[in-house]
Amino acid sequence: MTPESVASVRSRSQALQKRAERFFPGGVNSPVRAFRAVGGEPPFIERAEGAWLIDADGNRYIDYFGSWGPMILGHAFPPVVEAIERAARYSASFGASTAAEADLAERIAVCYPAVEKMRFVSSGTEATMSAIRLARAATGRKIVIKFEGCYHGHADGLLVKAGSGVATFGIPGSAGVPEEIAHLTLALPYNDLSAVEAAFDAHRDEIAAVILEPVVGNAGCIPPAPGYLAGLRALTANRGALLIVDEVMTGFRVALGGACELYGLVPDLVTLGKIVGGGLPVGVFGGKRQLMDLVSPAGPMYQAGTLSGNPLAMAAGLATVGHLQEHAAEVYARLEAAAKAVTEGVAQEAARAGVAVTLNRVGSMWTWFFTPGPVTNYEQAVKSDTAAFGRFHRAMLHRGVWLPPSQFEAAFISAAHGDAEVQATVAAARAAFRTA
Ligand SMILES: *Cc1c(COP(=O)(O)O)cnc(C)c1O
Repeated sequence: MTPESVASVRSRSQALQKRAERFFPGGVNSPVRAFRAVGGEPPFIERAEGAWLIDADGNRYIDYFGSWGPMILGHAFPPVVEAIERAARYSASFGASTAAEADLAERIAVCYPAVEKMRFVSSGTEATMSAIRLARAATGRKIVIKFEGCYHGHADGLLVKAGSGVATFGIPGSAGVPEEIAHLTLALPYNDLSAVEAAFDAHRDEIAAVILEPVVGNAGCIPPAPGYLAGLRALTANRGALLIVDEVMTGFRVALGGACELYGLVPDLVTLGKIVGGGLPVGVFGGKRQLMDLVSPAGPMYQAGTLSGNPLAMAAGLATVGHLQEHAAEVYARLEAAAKAVTEGVAQEAARAGVAVTLNRVGSMWTWFFTPGPVTNYEQAVKSDTAAFGRFHRAMLHRGVWLPPSQFEAAFISAAHGDAEVQATVAAARAAFRTA
């Protein structure tokens, strides 16, 4: 099936959305699913296979958000489905230890040498929240530096809006976050080492950790400038603070060993999520052995989870990570080639139509920013023409291509996307730019 044959009938989705609005704020269980940033009505998904999503009205879409990252091998990948089915027959949860936890941990430790010991949690939010608690426990310091446009889940202290100027303490980026908590977070511009240095000077011996997305995905895709990550590594080490690399999105995405492998980075703590759970809820925080041994019951920092290391989640994670590990060269080469073809193909169509688009891409994650660019930080990203992006998004969806429904979310491709999908996407973009 090609995108041209996609019907735009969405009556069942519309009815399902109405019903959902009775029960859920905005009709959704995570805000971006409501399509508020792009307009239009969100289709309800019935099932998915490989690169394709099928909605409640039977419309088919090429998927470029992959459940926000996890579905790197494509949907309903048979080894993952079988692993989950097999595990489910042995019971969905025990609340006691299983061999699968160390099986997955062993694979993670091989791919992420910085992760000597780890703990499984059930979301990326839990992973970063726990990593920060650990950094504070280890250093006895309170302040955390994050970067404008980086998202690390929805824990209070990480929902902090950009403050202007290095010495400016964060203000809450959400209702319900007390100022007292937001004040412990400093939000600095990304890709600006001097801002971090100035913050360390202004808050001597007070900064527990620097947390960042090593390639930003949550402001759209923004790669680190050459030397930036190494600079942060050196600064944190010199100033007695921990470096937390949040690889919830980039882990197993930009390389098997994530951004740590790609950029040769050795952080103190790493957080993982998304791909590591193969579509089931898994998060990980881990790092140096001495640090991790501060976590309960080995040490004084409390952290726990009823469903942590859940057997179905471990099974899906093992099947996914196992496949990536065993076929790494082939899978990552294929992802790179497909991502390059689709991103450059669409960017060429934009240029041909006279639409200013800046393409940022690292491996199989990218963003077409609707701005002449460059886009190296959040301030530049928000110069994008979000109305034009919204029109493009709706035009693509209409033609059977489902892009992330916000200018400020990275797009992903999976190993199930082939030449046919790539060519259909470029053709859809050609038509979309003509009308959008
Ligand atoms: C998605 C994401 C999170 C949050 O993970 P959840 O599982 O949604 O809680 C944290 N950090 C980064 C970099 C992410 O992309």
